[in-house]
Amino acid sequence: MSDEVIVLGGGLAGLSAAYHLGERAVVYEKEPYLGGHCRTKRVDGFNFDEGAHVFFGKDDISQKFVWEPLGPEMHSFRAEIWNDYGRGRFGRYPVQANAHAIGPEAATRCVVDFIAAAQEPEREVRTYEDWCYTSFGRAFSEEFMFRYARKVWTVEPREMNTEWLGSKVGGRISRPSIEQVVRGAVDPEPHELNYLTEFWYPVEGGFGRLIEPLLKGVNRVHTGCGVERIDSRARRIAFSDGSVREYERAISTIPLPALVRMTPDAPEEVREAAGKLMWTSIRCVNIGIEREDIGPGHWVYFYDEDVPFFRISFPSKFAAGNAPPGCGSVTCEVAYSRRKPLDERGLVERCVEALRAAGILKRDDRIVVEDGIDVPYAYVVFDFERAESLRVIHAWMRSVGLEPCGRFGEWGYHWSFEAIESGRRAAESVSTL
Ligand SMILES: Cc1cc2nc3c(=O)[nH]c(=O)nc-3n(C[C@H](O)[C@H](O)[C@H](O)COP(=O)(O)OP(=O)(O)OC[C@H]3O[C@@H](n4cnc5c(N)ncnc54)[C@H](O)[C@@H]3O)c2cc1C
Repeated sequence: MSDEVIVLGGGLAGLSAAYHLGERAVVYEKEPYLGGHCRTKRVDGFNFDEGAHVFFGKDDISQKFVWEPLGPEMHSFRAEIWNDYGRGRFGRYPVQANAHAIGPEAATRCVVDFIAAAQEPEREVRTYEDWCYTSFGRAFSEEFMFRYARKVWTVEPREMNTEWLGSKVGGRISRPSIEQVVRGAVDPEPHELNYLTEFWYPVEGGFGRLIEPLLKGVNRVHTGCGVERIDSRARRIAFSDGSVREYERAISTIPLPALVRMTPDAPEEVREAAGKLMWTSIRCVNIGIEREDIGPGHWVYFYDEDVPFFRISFPSKFAAGNAPPGCGSVTCEVAYSRRKPLDERGLVERCVEALRAAGILKRDDRIVVEDGIDVPYAYVVFDFERAESLRVIHAWMRSVGLEPCGRFGEWGYHWSFEAIESGRRAAESVSTL
């Protein structure tokens, strides 16, 4: 019996699995390039990642695969993150520690509700909506957290659980003390309250550089060779180049709904479970202009439902080589899903108009690049069906020799370094079978 392991997908998780398996691994990637979400697209001298991508891993895996090999080539930044409050007004993120920027009336409402919530007796927190009300009070929740949730996850906050909030790098959304909220409401100085206060980005080449250390340990890779069909009972995979491979064990980083779709013999209950998984996709609208001083900060969140994007970032500020001399760039991230299909009509024009209305682009800015990147799987939605659906799908996968791996195989909120760790874990589990 061959001890070869087929690795499906050449993103960080798949490459990490292959690295850890060494000679035994062979990687199949459907795109003509490697990296998955961790890739940098070069367009007329501009570098664009798949939405805002910065590095902040501090664990052992980050040490081994980023800091030791790439450390001197990583530039460090103090994170400057902003919120948009409409009509060209901005304030530092997060609003709960910087309410001064929303004006005295809204800030008073938010502080009063925050204090009232802090004095409420403990109650059961089941949904993200409950968690926000308990943590921040009504005004912060309804005017900011809920509006943002609807924009990025395209569901109601009460449809989401709270499993995704914790992470080993810290809470994804920070709960301040009463002192921090009051200070933020009266003091215009920016206040940090975030797991992401410092980040790193490659000095050149974009975020896609992060795959380089992994690639050094990966020998056999087929790019432009995607899985088309899996016969799971026979453990046979058909690829887009016409080849067919039998496998004993395979590691799959392919998004679960796609994996189940391409496996016609998957049981009905697995199909049903896959049909319940919820996620959002992103269309990145990338714009390059003939002006360097684009801003504010490194990225900005938008809460207004009339603005097409939920976030913009400025790749030209992450590395000089991300834009030609004298130029600046902005990436707008627009979320969509089966619950909220993408309205493509005039999308670029609507983004440009919203950027102008916010004062990010000036009327006389010369746009030299307009580009788009579609990200069909961007964010897993942690709804109440997720855990049970995963239990069914993962049990079936393991029963047919497919080890789930990565952000969309494990179906989680993995950061880049967590995807690398996921690949290490998957390699270990197929090795101990
Ligand atoms: C918008 C966005 C912003 C992010 N920002 C950050 C950040 O700031 N910092 C950070 O650390 N992390 C960030 N992340 C997370 C990080 O990008 C991911 O965790 C990581 O890249 C996931 O790697 P992966 O290998 O698990 O998945 P993927 O990158 O999705 O890799 C899966 C691979 O499988 C391939 N594939 C799919 N179907 C097939 C098929 N049929 N046959 C063969 N191959 C197939 C895909 O092409 C892809 O290459 C962000 C993610 C997103 C979406």
